[in-house]
Amino acid sequence: MKDDGKTRLSLCRLRCSVRIGTPPGALSRMPGKGAHPRRGRKAPEELLQRFLFGVCGMRELTKNPESFCTLGIETSCDETGLCLLRGARTVFAEVLASQIEEHAPYGGVIPEMASRRHQEMFLPLLRELFLRGGIQDPSREIDLIAVTQGPGLMGALLVGVMSAKGLAQGWDLPLLGINHLEGHIFANVLHSPFLEPPFLNLVVSGGHTEIVLVRDYGIYELLGRTRDDAAGEAYDKVAKMLDLGYPGGPKVDALAAQGDPGAFDLPVPLGNSPEMDFSFSGLKTAVLWKIEALKKEGPSPFPLEDLCASFQRAVVASLTGKVRLAMKHTGLSRVAVSGGVAANRGLRQGLLEIPGGEIFLPPPALCTDNAAMIAAAGYNGYMRGRRGDLALSPNPGMVLA
Ligand code: ADP
Ligand code: MG
Repeated sequence: MKDDGKTRLSLCRLRCSVRIGTPPGALSRMPGKGAHPRRGRKAPEELLQRFLFGVCGMRELTKNPESFCTLGIETSCDETGLCLLRGARTVFAEVLASQIEEHAPYGGVIPEMASRRHQEMFLPLLRELFLRGGIQDPSREIDLIAVTQGPGLMGALLVGVMSAKGLAQGWDLPLLGINHLEGHIFANVLHSPFLEPPFLNLVVSGGHTEIVLVRDYGIYELLGRTRDDAAGEAYDKVAKMLDLGYPGGPKVDALAAQGDPGAFDLPVPLGNSPEMDFSFSGLKTAVLWKIEALKKEGPSPFPLEDLCASFQRAVVASLTGKVRLAMKHTGLSRVAVSGGVAANRGLRQGLLEIPGGEIFLPPPALCTDNAAMIAAAGYNGYMRGRRGDLALSPNPGMVLA
């Protein structure tokens, strides 16, 4: 989003309508001002207790799960995402503000800038979401708030979590903190009704590269993870070396499609290791040396497409090799893929070619960060009996398994 006059104008407008979707006269029905629309008047002691002990939305589940409405909130990195989910899979309104353009000149995400942007965008987006979803009275029409708790950037997570806590308290709604990586797993659950545990999930994004065994929803086992850079990070760094701009993944992917993957013999990281871990920093360094050598004595014009194709071949060979290993280790054939790098054409092709593999690939919009996957994980957790409270705080280093 550009910080232009338009954005500022919409922010000003928003300030005049902070009580989004609250129908006229509803203020008098808010807790402390009179009877709550759902549960009647509360004694001041009960309100104080709820405040002191962080209780919110302790409502019984009386609603039909298919009409249950979850508000999903994602602010872990550089995307402010909000979504309204009906039941387990029906996204009926969604908004997303990506900050990619703003961070691009710096070649990566600037944490302080990301937090500020989330802060500025949160309420305008919420208003837009409710307009799109036809929400008039959130405390009646929404049943759960699910927010990304971690891992991610502390400042960015704080905006989402604190906003969610405010909304949960104001509207007396249940609140759940969601692990961002569990969210990525649920991108597949959202998209593929036939995907049932147990299955393997390859998470490949800008910050993560992991193979997770999903024994059941809520029961995860980490089989392998990167020892250094994430796959998306390696794409972004190689793109930076080649002056392709940020984020580099899609650009390297597009150039790779026009090049010869066998042009340069780049190493497949941990290719011969029996472990399911990944490593991409050595490959990144090999690309750097290759660039330097080619610049000194290489052909002209610079073989950009061939280098991108050779780099992509090594990354794909590493990822698909470890997926094969995990399939062998667990005896499972179902493999779901998620995270930004799951949009990579070479990787998608490579995975589909694994013999005996039943591969689940979400559409590109569900690969990168979004709030629908957070809402889907929240809904699933709530239906499994998970409950949260207002003591929720962000956890930048949150682990999944
Ligand atoms: P994170 O939340 O960890 O930052 P995302 O899931 O938002 O990651 O994905 C962003 C990452 O995905 C970036 O590193 C980007 O370069 C990478 N990416 C996006 N599209 C592609 C693609 N087609 N090929 C390779 N990498 C990609
Ligand atoms: Mg992201």
